[in-house]
Amino acid sequence: MIVVMKKEATARQIDEVVKHIESWGAQAHIDRGEALTVIGVIGDKTEILRKPWTSFGGVEKALEVSDPFKKASRKFHPSDSVIEIEGVKIGGGHNCVIAGPCSVDTEEYVVAIAKAVKAAGAQALRGGAFKPRTSPYTFQGSGEDGLKILQTAKQETGLPIVTEVMSVDQIDLIYKYADIIQIGARNAQNFNLLKAIGRLNKPAILKNGIATTAKEHLMSAEYIMSEGLKEVILCLRGTRSYETAFRNSLDVALIPYLQEASHLPVIVDSSHSTGLRSYVSAVAYAGMAAGADGLILEVHPDPKEALSDGEQALLPRDFEFLMKKLANLKAWSQKEWRRFDNEGAK
Ligand code: PEP
Ligand code: MN
Repeated sequence: MIVVMKKEATARQIDEVVKHIESWGAQAHIDRGEALTVIGVIGDKTEILRKPWTSFGGVEKALEVSDPFKKASRKFHPSDSVIEIEGVKIGGGHNCVIAGPCSVDTEEYVVAIAKAVKAAGAQALRGGAFKPRTSPYTFQGSGEDGLKILQTAKQETGLPIVTEVMSVDQIDLIYKYADIIQIGARNAQNFNLLKAIGRLNKPAILKNGIATTAKEHLMSAEYIMSEGLKEVILCLRGTRSYETAFRNSLDVALIPYLQEASHLPVIVDSSHSTGLRSYVSAVAYAGMAAGADGLILEVHPDPKEALSDGEQALLPRDFEFLMKKLANLKAWSQKEWRRFDNEGAK
């Protein structure tokens, strides 16, 4: 449930409510928004509902949250979460573009890609050193050597590193090199891995699963957050559908849907959503126009030589062109689109 404090509630009244919540063995999560402070309460539902909430000073009302996801829910945390990593912000009106190769390539290529995407305006570098491939006979990633190459690229460009963790036993190693830890589609419902990531103190990008629903995606975020980590970025990478023209299908409506349901930033991976270079930029642009908080894209200067996913890699000059187009894009939030709709509903 949530406890909504009155506009004029004092810091002492808020502290008092939090102290009581904790003394009942429940957890309190405070969201100090610009207009209102909301305290999310997690604990035994029947016990909590019985408490005399409105007799506390400064309390406006107490409401039950019916969503099965709590910490990820916007009801729990009405203001947008803004995640900051090495000076790069994402969420709450701060857009972030993450770009780089699918798999970490040679140092020469990775450093060149990092420099090119940075020059075009990317704020973080992606690259997988452990790759979840459909076939065990294809390139599986370059492991720690690849992580070291990412580190060199970071030293050369200052771009923070996004890289994927595939299993719990890789966490210590990935933690040493990653600034943001990526959880891929195939692990989107690996609940042990999600909980282990939730016990770390580094932001995580959580992709939707191969065929998960938006609610399942949010429940996966809840698994991470239930262990304490607050900095989770939801990433839409399309799902398996009946359509065979593309690798996956991305539902653009999921961007505002997730942003309404959750306070977490939502980014779009149009590389895996389409699987084909010719469509990656159009879908990236559509995602940003729909209000996404950022993009994660695969870029490679010589896609036919890329160690994986060459068919969906943008050439650096295409990436640069997309970034220029995005600079002139005015995206409207769902709140703006629905301003009359919301009035009508009152
Ligand atoms: C990737 O980012 O290279 C990747 C494997 O993505 P996904 O988990 O979305 O398939
Ligand atoms: Mn890939």
